[in-house]
Amino acid sequence: MIESTSLAAVIVGAGHAAGELATSLRDNGWQGSILLIGEEPFLPYHRPPLSKAYLSGTATAQSLLIKPQATYEKAKVETISGVRVSKIDRVNGTVHLADGREVRYDRLILATGGRPRQLPIPHIEQAERSGNFHYLRTLQDVDRIRQQFEPGMRLVIVGGGYIGLEVAAVAVRRGLKVTVLEALPRVLARVTAPELSAFYETRHREAGVDIRTGTGVEDVQLDPSGDAVSAVKCIDGSSVPADLVIVGIGLEPNVELAAEAGLSVDNGIVVDEFGQTSDPKIHAAGDCTNHPNPLLGRRLRLESVPNALEQARCVASSLCGKPKAHASIPWFWSDQYELKLKMVGLSQGYDQLVIRGNPQNDSFSAFYLKEGLILAADTVNRPPEFMLAKRFITERIQVDPSRLADDSLPLKDLLPNS
Ligand code: FAD
Repeated sequence: MIESTSLAAVIVGAGHAAGELATSLRDNGWQGSILLIGEEPFLPYHRPPLSKAYLSGTATAQSLLIKPQATYEKAKVETISGVRVSKIDRVNGTVHLADGREVRYDRLILATGGRPRQLPIPHIEQAERSGNFHYLRTLQDVDRIRQQFEPGMRLVIVGGGYIGLEVAAVAVRRGLKVTVLEALPRVLARVTAPELSAFYETRHREAGVDIRTGTGVEDVQLDPSGDAVSAVKCIDGSSVPADLVIVGIGLEPNVELAAEAGLSVDNGIVVDEFGQTSDPKIHAAGDCTNHPNPLLGRRLRLESVPNALEQARCVASSLCGKPKAHASIPWFWSDQYELKLKMVGLSQGYDQLVIRGNPQNDSFSAFYLKEGLILAADTVNRPPEFMLAKRFITERIQVDPSRLADDSLPLKDLLPNS
């Protein structure tokens, strides 16, 4: 254990990684001060419900808090909310806050997450100034969207990724007229097999969503006042009238603070398996990091809650003198309608897809194999298969594809010695 009695730990960001780090540091025996600084005016909150239960109105802002204020107080974690960290001064070991304060650190942890990728169109500045053009990353974004989320409104969603499709599911259920514009030939193209994309496109169309794939966006049209977007113009010459536009086309990691301080940055803040940046006094965790994954044998940047939490715990442990390398198979989830999708592993490079179960029944799994090994699995309404898939991938268990496809055979029977 290192002597941390008088050391000051400062955490920048107040999202999933930051909230976990703050209390994990204490749990791991950090004796010095812990300060959490976030630019959003809230304590760390659950972001996934923003496009699900919070958007639909079935969750309150209070219920999104990851931990109550009392937990931070008990762990002697000081918090500053609603203030941005504007600069890191590595020479003097301080961070500058946008309100003029300067805070000393002995150990600094960057958990700055990311921001929505901007839609690359000529009238983007006017669109962003208008009142009905939105991105969806924060609680405040959703509060603004909800003011316009009324039955009969024409909603155009740009981007057929998870966030866009989750929003579409909530919106169509609420009675909005929903169009999804996806530039690629199918939705979820970057993350799933064509079979899964087709399944989700079908379910959304059945629910009444107008899904237009292969339809890139060229620009928006503003109404004469310039205060609102009135239509989205597509590259194919079509124009989709809109009362409300939501853009979900990916994430840019918040790396500027690190880059301006001279830390190594390459599609994320570059860290080692313990979350340490190119400066031994500065660590990073969560969506903002480019980190190695020994189980996958490569570096990557992930956008997932489990990754943010696990990385945060490793950083906390390492800072307390108990080095713990971050090594786990990535996993994700997405809820659309009654479809609970849980995904594990990364499917890039698969040479065979095995479907288990019948998509018609809304209960099936898709396994991505390479040379008989499962690289990844997408499970729809099959939580036990998700858990087993995780094991097959982590333990690199060889499977017989024809037995894997046989839904009458329990998946656990494919485990060795079963
Ligand atoms: P964040 O949660 O982004 O937190 C970073 C925080 O740092 C932010 O509050 C930001 O304002 C703050 N910050 C940045 N720069 C500064 C600065 N200079 N000074 C002070 N504060 C700063 N993941 C899943 O696994 N499953 C899901 O179903 C899922 N659904 C999602 C739905 C939506 C709508 C969104 C937006 C994301 C979803 N995700 C989901 C992704 C998940 O939310 C992220 O992976 C997770 O939030 C990452 O946590 P983080 O702490 O790294 O970053």
